[in-house]
Amino acid sequence: MASKIKGTSPGQFRATRPKGGDNLLSLVDAPERSPVATRKAAVFLDRDGVVIEEVDYLSRPEQLKLIPGAARAIARLRKAGLKVVVITNQSGVARGYLTLKTLREVHALLRRRLAAQGAALDGLYFCPHLPARAGGKGCDCRKPGLSLLKRAQARFHLDFSRSYFVGDSTTDVLTAKRAGCTAVLVRTGKAGRDGVYRVQPHRVCRNLPAAADWIIGAGSRTPALRRQADGRRRHVQGLPGP
Ligand SMILES: [Mg+2]
Ligand SMILES: [Zn+2]
Repeated sequence: MASKIKGTSPGQFRATRPKGGDNLLSLVDAPERSPVATRKAAVFLDRDGVVIEEVDYLSRPEQLKLIPGAARAIARLRKAGLKVVVITNQSGVARGYLTLKTLREVHALLRRRLAAQGAALDGLYFCPHLPARAGGKGCDCRKPGLSLLKRAQARFHLDFSRSYFVGDSTTDVLTAKRAGCTAVLVRTGKAGRDGVYRVQPHRVCRNLPAAADWIIGAGSRTPALRRQADGRRRHVQGLPGP
């Protein structure tokens, strides 16, 4: 079973949609039925080693420590109009290292710590299952599976091709590439040295704040800046520049 924390399902919006005439309420639920042309860009974030310090199977709220600058980076990404969604594998639940209740407490604390620095997440999705190689049944929500990203896509009307995935492991890079997102590897946490998959990111950044700088630059609405950013991206993908 995949789980998500908080949030309003599209169904709840539909249930309260007025039959007509109430412009204010119609505006409120408009994003839930955006046409494809206005699909949004998101920045998917891995949790451990990207937003918070990597701890082997973090199992107690006291172990939670934000990576320096992470909260401000998240606030800047959202201010730039991007949805910010955490996607995290937490097999410690299936392994019995922590309960779902404790995991929810950890995530509530994470949101409070971010809020204390003016940042919020649009969504946080986790897979609590065991990987198949550890004897699990093989769910489709555990990264590099895409079902958690697809749930966020449906909820926020996201365009994967304009979205980014910032992670510290080769699993995150593979997830990004399978979804068609731009894969950004950070040098915090595992720093891409886990050796699980042979896969190259589109971009390597020192940490989440540096990744946010690059993403916001790449998404600039100024045509000159956008050409620059596109050139950078073509360069890192090994394609000819402008
Ligand atoms: Mg990680
Ligand atoms: Zn799963």
